[in-house]
Amino acid sequence: MSIPILKTPEYNTVLPSGREVVYRPFLVKEEKVMLTIKESKNVKDILRVMKSVVSGCLLSGAKVDELTYNDTEHLFILMRCRSIGEEVEITHKCKKCEKESPVSVDISNVGLSKPMPESDVVMLNDEVGVTIKSLSVDAMTKVANTVESDPLETIQYIVRTIFNNESVYEFKDLSKDEKKEFVESLSLSQVKNIMEKLEEYPRCSIKVDVTCPHCTEQETINVEGLENFFT
Ligand SMILES: [Zn+2]
Repeated sequence: MSIPILKTPEYNTVLPSGREVVYRPFLVKEEKVMLTIKESKNVKDILRVMKSVVSGCLLSGAKVDELTYNDTEHLFILMRCRSIGEEVEITHKCKKCEKESPVSVDISNVGLSKPMPESDVVMLNDEVGVTIKSLSVDAMTKVANTVESDPLETIQYIVRTIFNNESVYEFKDLSKDEKKEFVESLSLSQVKNIMEKLEEYPRCSIKVDVTCPHCTEQETINVEGLENFFT
């Protein structure tokens, strides 16, 4: 005779990238992992745990390594929602009276902060341009570590293709030396243009209508950032 094991519910969702996947809520084993880094300020640790938790709870439709960062964060928030509940309390500072008040956020409303950019192209001069890609969790981990200290290093996780009038080159197919040569040939303003393109991409976000209990000012706020959902 074997002991009874509880059946875990399964849910479907459509990810920001359009893929449909099946997932289950966090279980005690994932909660334990999350508790270990609840207070961590280390982005690398937080992203690592998010990826491993999502990987464990993603049942079919995609593999975690194929997902963009946004897809992974979207799933993480929904898994949290199904396991612990839809309500997360955050502290909001009123833009008018600047007093703080608690705001209850329904995280099942997770969406994207803005539409995807119409084009993924950044022209570097009249002839040469690059396309950039949506970051994976692994790329996000690397970018988080290098974006301030080493923008040149960051570029190679962002660029998908390099093209001119004649050809398109997949960045990942270039040799290490070719990648280095290309990145080092960029001017600072070209690097800046590429980084600015990245900012045009939406993030996972939850819109909330807030009325300030102190001065009755009304605001619509976008709640973003994984640290809000890691409880
Ligand atoms: Zn106020």
